[in-house]
Parts: sequence; structure tokens; C-alpha cells
Amino acid sequence: MSHSGAELRIRFIPGKVQLVQRVFQEEALVQGPRVLVTGATGLLGRAVYKEFQNNGWVVVGTGYRRARPRLLRCDLTDEDAVRELLHEYKPDVIVHCAAERRPDIVERHTEAAINLNVHATSVLAKEAAACSALFLYISTDYVFDGRNPPYGEDDAPSPLNVYGRSKLEGERETLRHCPGAVVLRVPILFGEVESVSESAVTSLWLKVRDTSESCALDHCQQRFPTHTRDVAVVCRKLCERARQDPSINGIFHFSANEQMTKYEMGIAMAQAFRLSSAHLSPLTEQSALTAALRPMNSRLNCSRLEMLNLNVHSLPFTSVVDCLWPFTDDKRWRQTVFH
Ligand code: NAP
Repeated sequence: MSHSGAELRIRFIPGKVQLVQRVFQEEALVQGPRVLVTGATGLLGRAVYKEFQNNGWVVVGTGYRRARPRLLRCDLTDEDAVRELLHEYKPDVIVHCAAERRPDIVERHTEAAINLNVHATSVLAKEAAACSALFLYISTDYVFDGRNPPYGEDDAPSPLNVYGRSKLEGERETLRHCPGAVVLRVPILFGEVESVSESAVTSLWLKVRDTSESCALDHCQQRFPTHTRDVAVVCRKLCERARQDPSINGIFHFSANEQMTKYEMGIAMAQAFRLSSAHLSPLTEQSALTAALRPMNSRLNCSRLEMLNLNVHSLPFTSVVDCLWPFTDDKRWRQTVFH
């Protein structure tokens, strides 16, 4: 329970959204600004939900297949449900994290992905403008082709795959319907996971820990793994600033600074857990079998965000240990690593 008392009890009735408000605390305590976090069951959305909740905001989070108590189940591709949700809740801010972000799935199920990444974004942006809510759209470094880094906020995007194109379309819909909106582009993310396969970073752990199986990991594509906790802090601070100063709008970049290939991430994980890395080898040629092309190096130049002095420092890549220890067999790591 948040100290803010920002608790809403939510019930979903098919075709109807019903928010039954105020359960634990006196009405007078529930005074913080209201934020709606979409994708609050996902990797980033969970961190964003927590960050706002811990900082005096009244938060409603939506999920879909994984929606659970205290989160609202809402299919964002259902326009009526989205409108009803916003009319009921009337948020001051919407942080739109929900998306289909697995490039190979987007390539195979394009229509469903476009529905969520583009059309649902478009509806949310229109509704945000209609109810004068600040709209923060989470986007990706995959809007760039990765041939000429680093990329500034004004550099021309040129996505290599359908996922990148759908997120770029989402950006354009956002800014077309809601000119005061903020777009935040971020690179590959890691953070607290429900299963290691939830993030492209933590999923490497399955290959790292199985030292009996030799495994080649990509050593071509340069990545900048960034912790969801840092992105969540940026989201909150950016929203707080933009609410005070409407000139803060448009595109911002945020990224950690450590440049690593997946091979280097694997080696770093093995070292952190003092495992052998002899079974890991660097793959120095792009696999022709990859369903969706990925940028080689889409490093983001974050100077526009830095000029706001939000004072957010990136957690080092070694903090991935924190995310992985629940999935290690040897629970002694808990003592060794953290105390
Ligand atoms: P994620 O873990 O895959 O979560 C996706 C979220 O979208 C889940 O909460 C999911 O809900 C929700 N969702 C899926 N279909 C929905 C629908 N029809 N209606 C409503 N909600 C639906 O994604 P993430 O990694 O947190 O990504 C968050 C944002 O960051 C995305 O915009 C993504 O493009 C961007 N991003 C991510 C990365 C990365 O490495 N992960 C990198 C760059 C940018 P259920 O699970 O409950 O169904």
C-alpha cells in the first residue's frame, strides 16, 4: 500500500469499465495527481507503476492477459473500452507503455501489432488531448537503422523492421493528435522479471548458466542495456516537469552508457556469478535466419533530456545480478552478492 493512499479498487465488466474508488484511505488523503499507466503488467510498466505510486501519485495501471487484482484489465485495441476508461478515470497524465515489442512476433502477427502499437496509441492520444491529460509515449531506438550513431532527437528515423516502423507510426500519431505530448525513446531494457525470458537481456541467463552447452552469442550488434527503474524515474520526473512547463514536449532520448554486445553481456553475467564462460563464443556474423533485421548500433544521444537536469543516474549493467538471483539454483548468492 502506497503512503499516498493512492488506491483504487477496479472491476472490469466486459464492455464496461467500472472504477470503484477509494477503499483504504480517507478521501482527503487521495489528493495526488492521477496517472494512468498502460502495460502495467509488463517489464517497464511495472517499474513505472511502482515509481509513480511511491511518489505521491494516484495510479491506475492497465494490463491485458496478465491483469491481476489492483490492475485493470482493458484491451487497448477496443476503442470503446479505452474511451470509457478515460472518461471514468480522468487522468492528469497517461504513460503509455503497452506495446507488442518483440520484433519477430510483430513480423509474424503484423496486423495485431499495428492495432496495438499504432491504432490504440492514436485513440489514446486523441483522448488524452480531449481530456487535457499529458501523454507520455514510450518508444524505441529501433526507429533508427543503426548505421550512423549516435542519434539525436531530430535525426531522421529509418526503421529496419516492422516493429520499428510501428513504433515510429505510434510516435507520429501521438504528436499529430496530441501536440503537447512527450515521446521517450529508450534502448534494450532489463529489470525485475517474472521469468528470465521476459527481457532480451535476462533471457541470456539461460545460456550463461548452462555451462555444459556451447553457445554462440551475437557480437555484432552494439546495445546499451538500460534498467527499467531508471526509465521509470525519468518518466515520473519528465511528467512532473512537463506539467509545470508545457514547453517541455516532443521527443526525448534516455539511455545508459555502457556499450555491450549480447556476447559481452553473457560474459559479464558469468563473471558476476563466478561461472565459467568457456562455453560462450562470440558470433561475429549476422544470422541470415533472423526474422526481423535489427540495427547494428542505434546509440541514442540524450542531450535534450540531459539539459533538463532531471538528475537520473543509470544503474550499471552489473545490477542485472539483482534481477537474476531469484533464478539461480544457488541461493547463497543472495548473501554473497548483496551483503
Ligand atoms: P512487455 O513487457 O512486453 O509488456 C507489454 C505490455 O503490453 C503488457 O503489460 C501487456 O499486457 C500489454 N498489452 C499487450 N497487448 C495488449 C492489449 N491488447 N491491450 C492492452 N494491453 C496490452 O513490454 P515492455 O518491455 O514493458 O515494453 C514497454 C515499452 O517499452 C513498449 O512501448 C516498448 O516498445 C518499449 N521498449 C521496450 C524495450 C525492451 O527491451 N523491452 C526496448 C525499447 C523500447 P499483458 O501482459 O497483461 O497482456
